[in-house]
Amino acid sequence: MADQAGPGTELEQDFDVLVLGAGSGGYACALRAAQLGMRVGLVEKDKVGGTCLHVGCIPTKALLHAAEVADAARESEQFGVHATLDGIDMDGVNGYKDAVVDRLHTGLSGLLKGRGVTTITGSGRLTSPRTVEVDGTTYTATHVVLASGSYAKTLPGLDLDGRVVSSTEALRLTEVPRSVVVLGGGVIGVEFASVWRSFGAEVTVLEALPRLVAAEDEACSKALERAFRKRGITLRTGTAFESVETTDDGVRVHVAGGDVLEADLLLVAVGRGPATDGLGYDDQGVAMERGFVLADERGRTNLDGVHAVGDIVPGLQLAHRGFAQGVLVAEDIAGLDPTPLDEALIPRVTYSDPEVASVGLTEAQAREAHGDAVETLTYDLGGNGKSQILKTQGFVKLVRRTDGPVLGVHMVGSRVGELIGEAQLITGWDAWPEDVAPLVHAHPTQNEALGEAHLALAGKPLHAHS
Ligand SMILES: Cc1cc2nc3c(=O)[nH]c(=O)nc-3n(C[C@H](O)[C@H](O)[C@H](O)COP(=O)(O)OP(=O)(O)OC[C@H]3O[C@@H](n4cnc5c(N)ncnc54)[C@H](O)[C@@H]3O)c2cc1C
Repeated sequence: MADQAGPGTELEQDFDVLVLGAGSGGYACALRAAQLGMRVGLVEKDKVGGTCLHVGCIPTKALLHAAEVADAARESEQFGVHATLDGIDMDGVNGYKDAVVDRLHTGLSGLLKGRGVTTITGSGRLTSPRTVEVDGTTYTATHVVLASGSYAKTLPGLDLDGRVVSSTEALRLTEVPRSVVVLGGGVIGVEFASVWRSFGAEVTVLEALPRLVAAEDEACSKALERAFRKRGITLRTGTAFESVETTDDGVRVHVAGGDVLEADLLLVAVGRGPATDGLGYDDQGVAMERGFVLADERGRTNLDGVHAVGDIVPGLQLAHRGFAQGVLVAEDIAGLDPTPLDEALIPRVTYSDPEVASVGLTEAQAREAHGDAVETLTYDLGGNGKSQILKTQGFVKLVRRTDGPVLGVHMVGSRVGELIGEAQLITGWDAWPEDVAPLVHAHPTQNEALGEAHLALAGKPLHAHS
């Protein structure tokens, strides 16, 4: 069903660009293509905005903000403020979270309408490189953009039911669980662990790899683990999950080595798989690997006129990568010759308490690429006034090529996610520490820690030991 007729037609069925999936990647592509004057159809079986808006980035960050408010009340004494945390009202928390999502959803729907994008509600299937069938109606286009997103994976034999949940169900809890086992110490698992601990739950994170957020620089994992332990979160890294039994009032999680962890709830956060099954992609000959759609640096698949963006394309599964790919594909279709994305320069933020934010190469990756010609510098937030005011601990770690540019920036601490923009410019523009050192950073900000780290790496530390 087409929700809205395109400009100049009653019910568009033929488009310049037809996008399958209205998540971050798909809607960004649709908006940009429409802005470039193309007739655009956007197929969505659920709600425009996709995972990020409805069950991903936005609602989790609303929970994390509520968690921060709870911590601020609980820890207010140390700032000389008398307040008590009387409890967490999940109806209230959910009301706040849902209102944020609803407002953004309304805004996005209006934006799509305003740009003249025809939103087609229903489940789409690629029936040829130029056609998508939506609930029995065939829509045609010169270019089709596959953007069907991802789903929460589980492990073989581990079924999601009432007490074994994915992040989607975890966002809809009506009570704070007394205890939770989080299976998976990646970004999603760590963020939920952080929220539930702030809400008062006993939390255990179970991770088969030796460290949390294993894709990050090892120093960040260590700092996060230290902070989590201090917050009373139990970490079982290097421990494999074996099985789970559900009981009347909880779960019994069996792990390698014979231990059994009992809790109210098990959150399965073991990554996300590409939502491509049964959508006609492989039937039509789209090149795929393990369910992911293979696309080149411009988002082109092996089929002429068929493009792919977002979580279905191998790489970082992040909303801002999807946005950037969507815009890039629209501009490529329009013949604007856009600059391809450099995946290594996509910023990554884990929004737990403390946050972990990074861009570029980790120290290990830099050493793999450049051998011994790598220098690092770690600036402790202990030397940063604003971090002391906030009572947060952490660091800014820089990785540079010797006599060369900054290759990676890695940060841990409250609110460091907000510092990633400058770090991205530094790595993206191949800046040397000596280029950054003369730039004046406002005092007292946490941003100053980035400036100080570059001063130190350029050989002239200010609030840091030489
Ligand atoms: C809990 C959680 C927290 C996250 N937090 C962050 C974060 O803080 N920052 C960040 O950058 N990323 C975050 N992400 C990741 C982010 O949500 C994804 O990377 C992003 O949503 C991917 O966009 P996409 O367009 O590829 O797919 P999706 O957003 O998944 O959108 C795909 C859309 O396609 C639709 N669709 C699928 N099949 C069909 C079909 N056959 N017909 C019609 N429509 C179809 C779906 O309904 C969906 O709306 C988080 C994810 C989760 C789960």
